[in-house]
Amino acid sequence: MARPPGRLRRCSVGRVRSLLIRVEIDTAQRAHKCQANSRHPIKKGDIRLNVRAGRGWDRYCMDCARKIVEGSLAALTLVSRAVETREAVSVGEDEATLIADGVKGIVAIDPTA
Ligand SMILES: [Zn+2]
Repeated sequence: MARPPGRLRRCSVGRVRSLLIRVEIDTAQRAHKCQANSRHPIKKGDIRLNVRAGRGWDRYCMDCARKIVEGSLAALTLVSRAVETREAVSVGEDEATLIADGVKGIVAIDPTA
């Protein structure tokens, strides 16, 4: 029996691996604190950034969201450039840095690159 048309193509193009973990922007249903800084209140009805963390979510105020997005964009830009120039590069977060500043973003750039 012949393969259904397009099957091979679906396999090779497939689901493209993403560098992003799940991210949402939504409205807080109740008041709580920003996960990056407990002095940043998020009020009921405020827009917030949610970043998947294990089975739950880390939730951030819009000021921290801006920094997180800018850091992530900068990291992606570096990776994008490295892909084109074939340079060695290392970006992303690790636990030590997360604990140190509580904000997601660039962790390390290979100094030997
Ligand atoms: Zn915040």
